[in-house]
Amino acid sequence: MKKYNFSAGPSTLPEEVLQQAAEAVLNLNNSGTSLIEISHRSKDFIAIMDEARSLVKKLMKLDDNHEVLYLQGGASLQFSMIPYNLLKNKAAYIDSGNFASSAIKEAKKIGSIEVLASSKDDKYTYIPKNFEIPKDVDYLHLTSNNTVYGTELKEFPETDVPLVCDMSSDILSRDIDFNKFGLIYAGAQKNIGPAGVTLVIVNKNLLGKTDRNLPSYLDYQIHIEKESMANTPPVFAVYATLLNLRWLDKQGGVSEIEKKNREKAALLYGEIDRNPLFRGVCVEEDRSLMNACFFLNDEATYKAKFDELVKQANIIGINGYRTVGGYRASIYNAMPLEGVQTLVNVMKELEKIA
Ligand SMILES: *Cc1c(COP(=O)(O)O)cnc(C)c1O
Repeated sequence: MKKYNFSAGPSTLPEEVLQQAAEAVLNLNNSGTSLIEISHRSKDFIAIMDEARSLVKKLMKLDDNHEVLYLQGGASLQFSMIPYNLLKNKAAYIDSGNFASSAIKEAKKIGSIEVLASSKDDKYTYIPKNFEIPKDVDYLHLTSNNTVYGTELKEFPETDVPLVCDMSSDILSRDIDFNKFGLIYAGAQKNIGPAGVTLVIVNKNLLGKTDRNLPSYLDYQIHIEKESMANTPPVFAVYATLLNLRWLDKQGGVSEIEKKNREKAALLYGEIDRNPLFRGVCVEEDRSLMNACFFLNDEATYKAKFDELVKQANIIGINGYRTVGGYRASIYNAMPLEGVQTLVNVMKELEKIA
Protein backbone atom coordinates (compact mmCIF):
# COMPACT_ATOMS: atom_id res chain seq x y z
CA MET A 1 0.00 0.00 0.00
CA LYS A 2 1.25 3.47 -0.87
CA LYS A 3 1.91 5.50 2.28
CA TYR A 4 0.44 8.91 2.88
CA ASN A 5 3.45 11.07 2.14
CA PHE A 6 3.19 14.51 3.76
CA SER A 7 6.77 15.52 2.86
CA ALA A 8 7.38 19.14 1.91
CA GLY A 9 9.42 18.21 -1.14
CA PRO A 10 10.13 16.06 -3.02
CA SER A 11 6.52 15.29 -2.30
CA THR A 12 3.62 13.05 -3.11
CA LEU A 13 2.37 12.57 -6.67
CA PRO A 14 -0.85 10.86 -7.78
CA GLU A 15 -0.47 7.10 -7.99
CA GLU A 16 -1.63 7.01 -11.61
CA VAL A 17 1.11 9.52 -12.51
CA LEU A 18 3.77 7.34 -10.89
CA GLN A 19 2.38 4.30 -12.68
CA GLN A 20 2.45 5.99 -16.09
CA ALA A 21 5.92 7.44 -15.48
CA ALA A 22 7.23 4.00 -14.52
CA GLU A 23 5.75 2.47 -17.67
CA ALA A 24 7.31 5.15 -19.86
CA VAL A 25 10.73 4.45 -18.38
CA LEU A 26 10.39 0.89 -19.68
CA ASN A 27 8.53 1.55 -22.89
CA LEU A 28 7.43 4.98 -24.05
CA ASN A 29 4.18 5.03 -26.05
CA ASN A 30 4.74 1.39 -27.07
CA SER A 31 7.79 2.46 -29.05
CA GLY A 32 10.00 -0.27 -27.64
CA THR A 33 12.37 2.34 -26.19
CA SER A 34 12.68 3.96 -22.81
CA LEU A 35 11.70 7.56 -22.19
CA ILE A 36 15.14 8.12 -20.68
CA GLU A 37 17.07 6.81 -23.64
CA ILE A 38 15.32 8.50 -26.55
CA SER A 39 16.75 11.62 -28.14
CA HIS A 40 15.37 14.89 -26.85
CA ARG A 41 15.25 15.87 -30.53
CA SER A 42 12.96 12.96 -31.34
CA LYS A 43 9.39 13.51 -32.47
CA ASP A 44 8.13 11.81 -29.29
CA PHE A 45 10.01 14.08 -26.94
CA ILE A 46 9.33 17.30 -28.84
CA ALA A 47 5.63 16.48 -28.53
CA ILE A 48 6.09 15.96 -24.78
CA MET A 49 7.82 19.31 -24.31
CA ASP A 50 5.25 21.12 -26.46
CA GLU A 51 2.35 19.69 -24.50
CA ALA A 52 4.05 20.34 -21.15
CA ARG A 53 4.40 24.00 -22.11
CA SER A 54 0.96 24.44 -23.61
CA LEU A 55 -0.79 22.71 -20.72
CA VAL A 56 0.76 25.20 -18.29
CA LYS A 57 -0.53 28.01 -20.51
CA LYS A 58 -3.99 26.48 -20.49
CA LEU A 59 -4.15 25.69 -16.76
CA MET A 60 -2.85 29.14 -15.81
CA LYS A 61 -4.82 30.94 -18.53
CA LEU A 62 -1.68 32.75 -19.67
CA ASP A 63 -1.71 35.40 -22.38
CA ASP A 64 0.71 35.50 -25.30
CA ASN A 65 3.19 37.77 -23.56
CA HIS A 66 3.95 35.00 -21.10
CA GLU A 67 6.47 32.35 -22.11
CA VAL A 68 6.69 28.98 -20.37
CA LEU A 69 10.15 27.52 -19.78
CA TYR A 70 11.41 24.28 -18.28
CA LEU A 71 14.90 24.83 -16.86
CA GLN A 72 17.35 23.14 -14.52
CA GLY A 73 19.13 24.32 -11.40
CA GLY A 74 16.04 24.34 -9.19
CA ALA A 75 14.26 27.36 -7.80
CA SER A 76 17.63 28.17 -6.26
CA LEU A 77 19.24 29.05 -9.61
CA GLN A 78 16.34 31.43 -10.25
CA PHE A 79 17.46 33.42 -7.19
CA SER A 80 20.42 34.49 -9.39
CA MET A 81 18.92 34.25 -12.89
CA ILE A 82 16.19 36.74 -12.05
CA PRO A 83 18.48 39.61 -11.06
CA TYR A 84 20.88 38.77 -13.90
CA ASN A 85 18.06 39.18 -16.40
CA LEU A 86 15.87 41.84 -14.80
CA LEU A 87 17.90 43.95 -12.41
CA LYS A 88 19.16 47.16 -13.90
CA ASN A 89 19.20 49.74 -11.13
CA LYS A 90 17.50 48.39 -8.04
CA ALA A 91 15.08 45.64 -7.00
CA ALA A 92 12.76 45.29 -4.02
CA TYR A 93 12.34 42.13 -1.96
CA ILE A 94 10.05 40.95 0.83
CA ASP A 95 11.73 38.75 3.40
CA SER A 96 8.94 36.35 4.37
CA GLY A 97 10.92 33.17 5.06
CA ASN A 98 14.16 31.28 4.58
CA PHE A 99 13.81 30.89 0.80
CA ALA A 100 12.99 34.59 0.43
CA SER A 101 16.06 35.35 2.46
CA SER A 102 18.19 33.11 0.21
CA ALA A 103 16.80 34.95 -2.82
CA ILE A 104 17.86 38.23 -1.23
CA LYS A 105 21.32 36.93 -0.45
CA GLU A 106 21.92 35.85 -4.06
CA ALA A 107 20.46 39.03 -5.57
CA LYS A 108 22.75 41.18 -3.43
CA LYS A 109 25.72 39.63 -5.23
CA ILE A 110 24.39 41.03 -8.49
CA GLY A 111 22.92 44.44 -7.80
CA SER A 112 21.30 46.89 -5.47
CA ILE A 113 18.51 45.42 -3.34
CA GLU A 114 16.05 47.03 -1.01
CA VAL A 115 14.27 44.80 1.51
CA LEU A 116 10.90 46.46 2.03
CA ALA A 117 9.67 44.32 4.91
CA SER A 118 10.60 41.25 6.91
CA SER A 119 8.88 38.92 9.36
CA LYS A 120 12.15 37.54 10.66
CA ASP A 121 11.58 39.35 13.97
CA ASP A 122 8.82 36.85 14.76
CA LYS A 123 10.44 33.72 13.31
CA TYR A 124 8.59 34.21 10.03
CA THR A 125 5.25 33.26 11.58
CA TYR A 126 3.38 35.94 9.65
CA ILE A 127 3.37 37.61 6.22
CA PRO A 128 4.79 41.15 6.18
CA LYS A 129 2.15 43.63 5.01
CA ASN A 130 1.64 47.37 4.59
CA PHE A 131 4.92 48.19 2.95
CA GLU A 132 5.47 51.01 0.49
CA ILE A 133 6.67 49.92 -2.96
CA PRO A 134 9.20 52.39 -4.44
CA LYS A 135 8.24 53.48 -7.96
CA ASP A 136 11.77 53.25 -9.31
CA VAL A 137 12.55 49.56 -8.74
CA ASP A 138 12.92 47.12 -11.63
CA TYR A 139 10.78 44.50 -9.89
CA LEU A 140 9.33 43.40 -6.58
CA HIS A 141 10.20 39.86 -5.49
CA LEU A 142 7.66 37.93 -3.43
CA THR A 143 7.37 34.37 -2.14
CA SER A 144 3.75 33.26 -2.40
CA ASN A 145 4.08 30.35 0.01
CA ASN A 146 6.70 29.91 2.70
CA THR A 147 7.23 26.17 2.72
CA VAL A 148 9.22 25.99 5.93
CA TYR A 149 7.02 28.13 8.16
CA GLY A 150 3.63 27.47 6.60
CA THR A 151 2.52 30.99 5.72
CA GLU A 152 0.97 32.06 2.42
CA LEU A 153 0.36 35.34 0.68
CA LYS A 154 -3.41 35.64 0.24
CA GLU A 155 -3.38 38.82 -1.80
CA PHE A 156 -0.80 40.26 -4.13
CA PRO A 157 0.04 43.96 -4.24
CA GLU A 158 -1.63 46.12 -6.89
CA THR A 159 1.26 47.98 -8.48
CA ASP A 160 2.81 48.97 -11.79
CA VAL A 161 6.13 47.53 -10.65
CA PRO A 162 6.67 44.09 -12.25
CA LEU A 163 5.94 41.33 -9.76
CA VAL A 164 8.35 38.41 -9.55
CA CYS A 165 7.13 35.50 -7.48
CA ASP A 166 8.62 32.30 -6.11
CA MET A 167 5.60 29.97 -6.25
CA SER A 168 7.57 26.77 -5.71
CA SER A 169 5.25 25.37 -3.07
CA ASP A 170 1.81 26.62 -4.10
CA ILE A 171 1.85 26.98 -7.88
CA LEU A 172 -1.34 25.61 -9.48
CA SER A 173 -2.97 25.15 -6.07
CA ARG A 174 -5.32 28.13 -6.25
CA ASP A 175 -6.87 30.32 -8.86
CA ILE A 176 -5.07 33.63 -9.21
CA ASP A 177 -4.54 35.99 -12.09
CA PHE A 178 -1.17 34.69 -13.21
CA ASN A 179 -0.98 37.23 -16.03
CA LYS A 180 -0.35 40.04 -13.63
CA PHE A 181 3.09 38.65 -12.80
CA GLY A 182 6.23 39.59 -14.69
CA LEU A 183 7.88 36.34 -13.73
CA ILE A 184 6.81 33.23 -11.83
CA TYR A 185 9.10 30.36 -10.92
CA ALA A 186 8.72 27.05 -9.16
CA GLY A 187 10.92 24.05 -8.50
CA ALA A 188 8.74 21.18 -9.71
CA GLN A 189 9.24 18.89 -6.74
CA LYS A 190 6.68 20.48 -4.44
CA ASN A 191 3.43 20.68 -6.33
CA ILE A 192 3.96 19.81 -9.97
CA GLY A 193 6.38 16.96 -10.51
CA PRO A 194 9.68 15.36 -9.55
CA ALA A 195 12.91 17.18 -8.74
CA GLY A 196 15.15 18.08 -11.65
CA VAL A 197 13.08 20.63 -13.49
CA THR A 198 12.02 24.17 -12.71
CA LEU A 199 9.07 25.93 -14.24
CA VAL A 200 9.62 29.56 -15.21
CA ILE A 201 6.92 31.79 -16.66
CA VAL A 202 8.16 35.11 -17.89
CA ASN A 203 6.59 38.10 -19.55
CA LYS A 204 8.91 38.52 -22.52
CA ASN A 205 8.40 42.30 -22.58
CA LEU A 206 10.56 42.58 -19.46
CA LEU A 207 13.59 41.00 -21.09
CA GLY A 208 16.57 42.49 -22.90
CA LYS A 209 16.72 45.68 -20.85
CA THR A 210 20.01 45.17 -19.03
CA ASP A 211 23.37 45.39 -20.76
CA ARG A 212 24.75 42.26 -19.18
CA ASN A 213 26.53 39.81 -21.40
CA LEU A 214 25.10 36.73 -19.75
CA PRO A 215 26.35 33.16 -19.93
CA SER A 216 23.94 31.54 -22.38
CA TYR A 217 22.34 29.16 -19.89
CA LEU A 218 21.45 32.09 -17.63
CA ASP A 219 19.73 34.06 -20.39
CA TYR A 220 15.94 33.63 -20.53
CA GLN A 221 15.84 34.93 -24.08
CA ILE A 222 17.95 32.04 -25.28
CA HIS A 223 15.68 29.51 -23.57
CA ILE A 224 12.62 31.17 -25.12
CA GLU A 225 14.19 31.09 -28.55
CA LYS A 226 15.23 27.44 -28.16
CA GLU A 227 11.86 26.41 -26.67
CA SER A 228 13.47 25.01 -23.49
CA MET A 229 15.82 22.84 -25.55
CA ALA A 230 18.96 24.99 -25.49
CA ASN A 231 20.70 21.96 -24.04
CA THR A 232 19.52 18.46 -23.12
CA PRO A 233 16.44 18.93 -20.97
CA PRO A 234 15.72 16.64 -17.99
CA VAL A 235 13.46 14.40 -20.03
CA PHE A 236 12.15 12.25 -17.19
CA ALA A 237 11.26 15.21 -14.97
CA VAL A 238 9.54 17.03 -17.83
CA TYR A 239 7.52 13.94 -18.77
CA ALA A 240 6.44 13.18 -15.20
CA THR A 241 5.45 16.83 -14.84
CA LEU A 242 3.39 16.57 -18.01
CA LEU A 243 1.61 13.50 -16.63
CA ASN A 244 0.83 15.41 -13.46
CA LEU A 245 -0.45 18.42 -15.40
CA ARG A 246 -2.74 16.12 -17.37
CA TRP A 247 -3.98 14.70 -14.08
CA LEU A 248 -4.69 18.21 -12.81
CA ASP A 249 -6.51 19.10 -16.01
CA LYS A 250 -8.65 15.98 -15.61
CA GLN A 251 -9.52 17.03 -12.05
CA GLY A 252 -11.09 20.15 -13.54
CA GLY A 253 -8.06 22.44 -13.40
CA VAL A 254 -6.90 24.97 -10.86
CA SER A 255 -10.25 26.22 -9.57
CA GLU A 256 -11.46 22.68 -8.88
CA ILE A 257 -8.27 21.64 -7.11
CA GLU A 258 -8.46 24.84 -5.07
CA LYS A 259 -11.83 23.73 -3.67
CA LYS A 260 -10.31 20.42 -2.62
CA ASN A 261 -7.24 22.14 -1.18
CA ARG A 262 -9.44 24.46 0.89
CA GLU A 263 -11.45 21.52 2.17
CA LYS A 264 -8.29 19.62 3.20
CA ALA A 265 -6.76 22.66 4.91
CA ALA A 266 -10.00 23.45 6.77
CA LEU A 267 -10.18 19.87 8.03
CA LEU A 268 -6.60 19.84 9.31
CA TYR A 269 -6.47 23.36 10.81
CA GLY A 270 -9.90 22.72 12.32
CA GLU A 271 -8.45 19.79 14.23
CA ILE A 272 -5.25 21.64 15.20
CA ASP A 273 -7.42 24.39 16.72
CA ARG A 274 -9.96 22.08 18.31
CA ASN A 275 -7.68 19.46 19.79
CA PRO A 276 -6.30 20.65 23.16
CA LEU A 277 -3.08 18.67 22.64
CA PHE A 278 -2.00 20.72 19.60
CA ARG A 279 -1.47 24.30 18.54
CA GLY A 280 -0.72 25.98 15.21
CA VAL A 281 2.62 27.69 14.53
CA CYS A 282 1.58 30.70 12.43
CA VAL A 283 -0.75 33.67 12.57
CA GLU A 284 -4.19 32.37 11.59
CA GLU A 285 -4.93 34.75 8.71
CA ASP A 286 -1.64 33.89 6.98
CA ARG A 287 -1.85 30.11 7.25
CA SER A 288 -0.79 28.17 4.19
CA LEU A 289 -3.19 25.92 2.29
CA MET A 290 -0.19 23.76 1.40
CA ASN A 291 2.03 23.37 4.48
CA ALA A 292 0.28 23.15 7.85
CA CYS A 293 2.77 23.58 10.70
CA PHE A 294 1.80 22.65 14.24
CA PHE A 295 3.22 21.76 17.63
CA LEU A 296 2.28 19.31 20.35
CA ASN A 297 1.72 21.40 23.47
CA ASP A 298 3.45 18.82 25.62
CA GLU A 299 6.09 17.06 23.55
CA ALA A 300 7.74 15.40 26.52
CA THR A 301 4.58 13.47 27.35
CA TYR A 302 3.04 12.82 23.93
CA LYS A 303 5.64 12.91 21.16
CA ALA A 304 6.67 9.25 21.27
CA LYS A 305 3.05 8.07 21.38
CA PHE A 306 1.93 10.41 18.60
CA ASP A 307 4.84 9.40 16.37
CA GLU A 308 3.96 5.75 16.93
CA LEU A 309 0.29 6.29 15.99
CA VAL A 310 1.37 8.24 12.90
CA LYS A 311 3.58 5.37 11.82
CA GLN A 312 0.86 2.78 12.35
CA ALA A 313 -1.48 4.86 10.17
CA ASN A 314 1.00 4.64 7.24
CA ILE A 315 1.76 8.34 7.42
CA ILE A 316 5.25 9.63 6.62
CA GLY A 317 6.96 12.99 6.26
CA ILE A 318 5.24 15.10 8.92
CA ASN A 319 8.30 16.17 10.89
CA GLY A 320 8.76 19.94 10.99
CA TYR A 321 11.71 21.65 9.33
CA ARG A 322 14.84 21.26 11.46
CA THR A 323 14.95 24.89 12.58
CA VAL A 324 11.21 25.04 13.36
CA GLY A 325 10.61 21.67 15.03
CA GLY A 326 7.17 20.26 15.71
CA TYR A 327 5.21 18.96 12.75
CA ARG A 328 4.54 20.04 9.20
CA ALA A 329 1.93 18.31 7.08
CA SER A 330 2.30 19.25 3.43
CA ILE A 331 -1.05 18.83 1.74
CA TYR A 332 -0.23 19.58 -1.88
CA ASN A 333 -2.61 18.96 -4.80
CA ALA A 334 -1.84 15.25 -4.91
CA MET A 335 -2.62 14.55 -1.24
CA PRO A 336 -6.11 13.06 -1.12
CA LEU A 337 -8.70 14.22 1.43
CA GLU A 338 -8.61 10.68 2.78
CA GLY A 339 -4.92 11.17 3.71
CA VAL A 340 -5.73 14.31 5.67
CA GLN A 341 -8.66 12.56 7.32
CA THR A 342 -6.30 9.76 8.37
CA LEU A 343 -3.95 12.25 10.02
CA VAL A 344 -6.85 14.00 11.76
CA ASN A 345 -8.09 10.64 13.04
CA VAL A 346 -4.66 9.98 14.53
CA MET A 347 -4.74 13.34 16.31
CA LYS A 348 -8.17 12.48 17.72
CA GLU A 349 -6.95 9.06 18.76
CA LEU A 350 -4.07 10.62 20.70
CA GLU A 351 -6.52 12.86 22.55
CA LYS A 352 -8.66 9.84 23.45
CA ILE A 353 -5.82 7.91 25.04
CA ALA A 354 -4.17 10.98 26.64
C1 LIG B 1 11.91 24.25 -2.07
C2 LIG B 1 11.85 25.70 -2.34
C3 LIG B 1 12.90 26.38 -2.97
C4 LIG B 1 14.17 25.70 -3.38
O1 LIG B 1 13.93 24.90 -4.46
P1 LIG B 1 15.09 24.06 -5.19
O2 LIG B 1 14.38 23.57 -6.41
O3 LIG B 1 15.50 22.99 -4.23
O4 LIG B 1 16.20 24.99 -5.50
C5 LIG B 1 12.76 27.73 -3.19
N1 LIG B 1 11.65 28.39 -2.81
C6 LIG B 1 10.62 27.79 -2.18
C7 LIG B 1 9.43 28.58 -1.78
C8 LIG B 1 10.69 26.43 -1.92
O5 LIG B 1 9.67 25.80 -1.30
